[in-house]
Amino acid sequence: MGSITLKNVRKTFGDAEVIPGVDLTIEDGEFVVFVGPSGCGKSTLLRLIAGLEDVTSGQIVIDGQDVTHAAPARRRLAMVFQSYALYPHMTVRKNIAFPLKMAGMAQAEQDKRVAHAARILNLDSYLDRRPGQLSGGQRQRVAIGRAIVREPAAFLFDEPLSNLDAALRVNMRVEISELHNKLATTMVYVTHDQVEAMTMADKIVVLRAGRVEQVGSPLDLYRSPANRFVASFIGSPN
Ligand code: ADP
Ligand code: MG
Repeated sequence: MGSITLKNVRKTFGDAEVIPGVDLTIEDGEFVVFVGPSGCGKSTLLRLIAGLEDVTSGQIVIDGQDVTHAAPARRRLAMVFQSYALYPHMTVRKNIAFPLKMAGMAQAEQDKRVAHAARILNLDSYLDRRPGQLSGGQRQRVAIGRAIVREPAAFLFDEPLSNLDAALRVNMRVEISELHNKLATTMVYVTHDQVEAMTMADKIVVLRAGRVEQVGSPLDLYRSPANRFVASFIGSPN
């Protein structure tokens, strides 16, 4: 289960009102993309959902439970960081198992979950290597593996492909979509890349200056953009 509801969520940093107030519902199992230009508040909104930032006001509900002021670990969400967040001195196996080890999980259960994640991500034969011995795409998969083993209610991605080269970006885009099909777990994916949004999303949330300009399927947005900002941003002819 992984529904996420934001009720009039506001965030200010000092005098700067970065998120003036967002209402949004993410259904269980949906692939939702937050898209918008740099600085529009995508990362801040994701960090508010993750609990890495505290809301100024408003409410966040995950699976019917009010988590507005809950610690990140209590939200059952997994944030996927870019592949450079791996520990270079640890094997792939240890990198993937790391959050489980920190949580004090029994070794047998850790091994089972790591094997499952490795199978899903085609990393079985790389478990004893270190990140430096992997390609960029494999490293990105290890970063995703570290999220999968936690069996989260939802995955949160913040521009996970932005430091990969163009060809690899296309591959990983497909891989993440396939992963969503396999796991059927809610994914919230932040990008400033319209192509990623249009090709990956069930539902796109277009943000501008911390406000939701439009929510809809890629086709909805393409055919019926709410305004010229949305039209020009997603490349609609209208
Ligand atoms: P995006 O991810 O869409 O590029 P961000 O959410 O990172 O945008 O930032 C939105 C705005 O909030 C920017 O103007 C940024 O400078 C500001 N901001 C983000 N985090 C902080 C912070 N910790 N303190 C002050 N301002 C911040
Ligand atoms: Mg950002």
